[in-house]
Amino acid sequence: MNAPQLPSYISRENVGPWHIFLQQVEQVAPLLERRLWPWVETLRRPKRSLIVDVPIRLDSGEVAHFEGYRVHHNTSRGPGKGGVRFHQDVTLSEVMALAGWMTIKNAVVNVPFGGAKGGIRVDPRQLSLAELERVTRRYTSEISAMIGPDKDIPAPDMNTNAQVMAWMMDTYSMGEGRTVTGVVTGKPLSLGGSLGRLDATGRGVFVVARDAARRLGIPVAGARVAVQGFGNVGEAAARLFARAGARVVAVQDVSGTVYCDAGLDLEDLRRHRAATGSLIDAPGSIALEQEAFWGVPCDFLVPAALEAQINKHNAAAISARVIVEGANGPTTPEAEAILGERQVLIVPDVIANAGGVTVSYFEWVQDFSSFFWSEEEINQRLERIMGEAFAAIWQLAEERRLPLRTAAFVIACSRVLEARAIRGLYP
Ligand code: NAD
Repeated sequence: MNAPQLPSYISRENVGPWHIFLQQVEQVAPLLERRLWPWVETLRRPKRSLIVDVPIRLDSGEVAHFEGYRVHHNTSRGPGKGGVRFHQDVTLSEVMALAGWMTIKNAVVNVPFGGAKGGIRVDPRQLSLAELERVTRRYTSEISAMIGPDKDIPAPDMNTNAQVMAWMMDTYSMGEGRTVTGVVTGKPLSLGGSLGRLDATGRGVFVVARDAARRLGIPVAGARVAVQGFGNVGEAAARLFARAGARVVAVQDVSGTVYCDAGLDLEDLRRHRAATGSLIDAPGSIALEQEAFWGVPCDFLVPAALEAQINKHNAAAISARVIVEGANGPTTPEAEAILGERQVLIVPDVIANAGGVTVSYFEWVQDFSSFFWSEEEINQRLERIMGEAFAAIWQLAEERRLPLRTAAFVIACSRVLEARAIRGLYP
């Protein structure tokens, strides 16, 4: 039989994040049960991808156009779920990869969602608040055929937050003629948001880091931690590490890198960034070159910014014992090979940053039942789900001598393809 014809975006020249996702699928496919092999092709083909034009009137009166995307990678296990990213470098390849990783992540923590993702190719720092609202509302309207509380539920990602989710929820609700809180998660508390959602991804990063440390015999108290990205994920993860007695010695964001051997005062750092827009010159810190961040001696390295930050150019400089992937796709396969030879443990994104979608699932359930849980209940359930998922990955990795990422993919792909196989083909 001839090999099936590949869609245009599966080209070997396409070296974007989607290509990395495909490589990960290739690696895991032979490790799956043979009866699931006929369905692996579904993972290589996003179910549907939408590209939309997002025209808005700028405050100056001119009209500007932005390109927006929403991708459903797989919905075999339930409605699509995944964030919306506003960034000047967003591409369809990136959104497809992020949607694929959401399919895997949701299956790893066994929440009943498929994988989806969205984004707009825009630098939100160049827009006023009113322009940002218009971009968000027009984008929501353009993708409204794809989203819905039982179809696809967006959430925050880079440069989007609870306010953006409130505008999305309002725009969708206007179209429906009724208030539909369950169409997005990561909303403000006053609109059906969940307690604990803001810190959830960072909390999940910390929970799995702590579990990995226990298994490796590394005490968290006194450990040295370096964090790239001081946003929703990086800031919360750093704070929880510090609360457990670790020293956060280096933090990098888009404005620069700050270092303090005794441990940075994160509250000072937050205040300084809020006042000046930059980390540089925060009290008690010294500035480092951006590249020097990777060579900072540390026990835990938490990349919590963008993809491909740990790559063949800086992997050899990294001295961390454990890398906990707060960001999606922060380590390239070449870097992973270099780090693997040096026995650096990588706790992969698909489990390490799954805390956000887990509490998003709690938010969605609470919106449906209109019954809201306490923060303590939410954090306990989050820790239980993350702890059990991590233990299952660790056990499989030990039994079959696999890297944690491959073990996580084996568990997730088996769940997704099992659902796919039982459902069968339509028509
Ligand atoms: P955010 O916008 O709140 O923060 C991003 C941070 O990264 C900022 O501090 C920014 O300055 C920094 N950054 C951006 N570009 C950088 C660069 N080139 N070098 C150094 N730092 C840079 O975003 P977030 O929500 O914290 O998301 C961060 C990562 O975590 C993304 O990969 C996202 O997909 C992933 N993630 C987020 C969530 C969530 O709940 N927010 C959930 C799962 C995964």
